[in-house]
Amino acid sequence: MAHERSPLRLVPDPVPGPEVRAVPRTLGAVELLPGRVRAALLDRSGAVLDRAEASFDAGSASPAGVDEALARVAAVFDGHRPSGVGVAAAGVVDPAGGRVIEVDEAPALRGYGVTARLEELTGVPVRVEHRARVQVLGDRWFGPGRGRRSFASVSTGEVLGVGILYDGEVLAPEGGRSGAHMTVSASGEPCTCGRRGCWKAVATTRWLRGRAGALGLRAEGASLGALVASRDGAARRLVAEYAENLVLGLATVQQLFACGLFVLHGEAREGGEPFRALVESGLRAGALGGGELPRVVVSEAAVDDVALLGGAGLVLSGR
Ligand SMILES: [Zn+2]
Repeated sequence: MAHERSPLRLVPDPVPGPEVRAVPRTLGAVELLPGRVRAALLDRSGAVLDRAEASFDAGSASPAGVDEALARVAAVFDGHRPSGVGVAAAGVVDPAGGRVIEVDEAPALRGYGVTARLEELTGVPVRVEHRARVQVLGDRWFGPGRGRRSFASVSTGEVLGVGILYDGEVLAPEGGRSGAHMTVSASGEPCTCGRRGCWKAVATTRWLRGRAGALGLRAEGASLGALVASRDGAARRLVAEYAENLVLGLATVQQLFACGLFVLHGEAREGGEPFRALVESGLRAGALGGGELPRVVVSEAAVDDVALLGGAGLVLSGR
């Protein structure tokens, strides 16, 4: 009931007590992106029961549009009272402060207090984490990472990033990022951040599309799926190069954290088994021995659900 809790009061830690654990409750998830917000109500196995989506003007300096968009999608929780809501947000996030610090090209989200707003709307505890980092919790609770203490969850495609579960904990240091701007080349191609040699500049769809265009491989929009299916030698070489570029970043992660398992999300799914095998063999070729031989799996989760599953996993992982 709404009157049980003052909406703006600090809510208790979302760890459910033993008596609550016995009663399965639903989980809430929200994905906050520049210009777009999505919400889902999930059961405890990660199945989406209901969902909603709304857009807002990301370029506006006022947060009013975000407030309104969140109110619209939060209607999906009406009458369910989920155990909590986990927010997967783009950009630089302050989990302790419950807010987005900054998102490229989205002034409306600068400093936005997303947990306070959603607690006000739903009356349940809300936590926020970075989208790329939180997806590891989706894999941990509902996907290929179930039962593991350490692994990496990787976004591929338009967005590149790595979330790491290490010894049971998500690595989420304050100010830490998702790895997209790791330098993988001393010179390299220019990046959206203004520097050169970033991983993102050579291992995202933008690079793939550009290179396919330069090679005259324009068939079917030169998507990874189309390139993998192509019999053209140049297309195959391009796919192999793309896999190598992805491995550049992943090998660094493996060297540092010995993740053992890499769960790929996003575009990699389009590349099917041939692409998965290329990434895995590249990663294994670079492994220096010791620890678990790296393995690569492609998530079966629908691309649109990855961040939402992470949000739901954030609720289950409540500290
Ligand atoms: Zn960069």
